[in-house]
Amino acid sequence: MGVAYKLHCERCSYNQNVYMGVGFRYGYLSEIEEWFEDPAGKERIREFMKDDHTKYNCFHGLYVCEKCKYLLNAHYLHLQSDTDSYLQSYDCPRCSEKMPSIPIDKELDHGYSPTCPECGEEKLSVEGFLDWD
Ligand SMILES: [Zn+2]
Ligand SMILES: [Zn+2]
Repeated sequence: MGVAYKLHCERCSYNQNVYMGVGFRYGYLSEIEEWFEDPAGKERIREFMKDDHTKYNCFHGLYVCEKCKYLLNAHYLHLQSDTDSYLQSYDCPRCSEKMPSIPIDKELDHGYSPTCPECGEEKLSVEGFLDWD
């Protein structure tokens, strides 16, 4: 069950809804392969599906750009077999910097609030508002 949060800045007009955690169709790699957006990641999922020893971790997380503080709500995907591994990586859509390899996951539940990516001045207010999926 995933959780959605409303992030908003009290100083500027920034606001965004973010979706975190795992949804209904995350139970098997074959399900993830069907909806996974990134073509490179999707291709790698197909390869790993052929290997019975593949372990994987996939969830919706929040990547925070270390350079410009942009917040990217995207899928963490880690695939691991006996001989190969794959970690989905992202570049910041705003400044092209490489995003950290691990996104924020449960931290929003525990009082973490990211800095506003627009004004860079204020901590965003974080409010949970629905269970998605
Ligand atoms: Zn950036
Ligand atoms: Zn702001």
